Amino acid sequence: MPNDPSTASIAPLRGEFVNASEEVGFLHHQAPTILRDLRRAVLLCALCYWLFGVTDVMALGLHGAIVPLLARLTPPLIALAGMAMVRHTAAPVKTAYRLSTLTTTLGMASYLVVVCYRPYDTLLHGTAIGLMVLAVLIFIPNRLPTAFPIALGGSMVFVLLAWYMHTEDTRHLISMTLMILFANVFGVVAANRHARLWREQYWAQQVLTNLSIRDPLTGCYNRRYLNAALLDGEIARARRYRLNLSLIMCDLDGFKTINDTHGHHAGDELLRSFATLVLAMTRDTVDTVVRYGGEEFLIILPETPLDGAVELAERIRATFAGQQLQLGAATLSTTASFGVVSADFAAARAVTPQALIAAADELMYDAKRGGRNQVRSHQLTPHLGFA
Ligand code: GH3
Ligand code: MG
Ligand code: MG
Repeated sequence: MPNDPSTASIAPLRGEFVNASEEVGFLHHQAPTILRDLRRAVLLCALCYWLFGVTDVMALGLHGAIVPLLARLTPPLIALAGMAMVRHTAAPVKTAYRLSTLTTTLGMASYLVVVCYRPYDTLLHGTAIGLMVLAVLIFIPNRLPTAFPIALGGSMVFVLLAWYMHTEDTRHLISMTLMILFANVFGVVAANRHARLWREQYWAQQVLTNLSIRDPLTGCYNRRYLNAALLDGEIARARRYRLNLSLIMCDLDGFKTINDTHGHHAGDELLRSFATLVLAMTRDTVDTVVRYGGEEFLIILPETPLDGAVELAERIRATFAGQQLQLGAATLSTTASFGVVSADFAAARAVTPQALIAAADELMYDAKRGGRNQVRSHQLTPHLGFA
């Protein structure tokens, strides 16, 4: 998750995050908005496109207007049918964008059919094409690098057709051509601006969210995150899929002496080095490290049975005990004590977050009483007690 606003790099032309995983995260986060906007855009564009079918009938009579009317009917029908299915696909935004690409391309092409049937309304067609360009670029959600060639290509084919048919004065054709070109330019600039602003706003929101759930000294999550989302979420997931969940509570030994001997700043650095070690030894997006108290950390290990959690705690304990932190003339080192608790939710479905934390805490104090620099562990039984 982002900590630093400057790391969000947005490509200036296409208006998307340079980093592909950031773009995927953004689209995933915005999926409900994108789908809602696409649904509204499809409905409104379909209504508008069909309403203008009245002018086909007035110009060509009902019989003569059959082909243009069919041309007008097809893209919105495909769009409406596609919209009904988009939500049920594995990647809704990707599918939604493909649907936009297909239907806007068909929409532009079908309007060219209308133009061929009504070659004497060229200036009105020019106005309609200008509006379609703006709709494709700004109104219908799609990637800018996809929408732009569709808008420009479709409108330029129309311009060529208009010049080829030459049913208007040359000065009118020049005005119309310029108007359509400017619709493309304004549309692409506005779409690019919107894409960038949307991502900048999203990024700022992510940075703020991240700041509010991280401890500034160590970079670990804080209690707010633990309480608000994580433990309940992880427990619910473990319960639903009947998985193992393990917790490690750890506390630095004799930390007060470090502060008293070397000063608070040195204590901070040692805390930071412990957190860095724990973060490096845990799985990046799977495990969660929370600064639970002053020099107390809670590690949440989803889908991890007791022996795996104990092995990890032992590795952290041994590595930290062997580490020395050089700070000016002072050499700092200490040890940590660990309490490891695990629940198999296939059996212990009623275990609560509070019971897990209390058990890990109790085991950690057990390790302290046993002489510190050690790991104590237990498997929780279905009756919430110790095995
Ligand atoms: P034990 O081995 O029993 O855990 O002893 P201890 O000295 O580590 O534990 P105690 O709870 O007596 O002291 C914890 C100390 O941690 C006291 C507190 O001032 C210090 N502390 C808490 N938060 C911070 C912090 O952010 N930075 C620094 N430098 N010290 C902190
Ligand atoms: Mg301590
Ligand atoms: Mg403590």
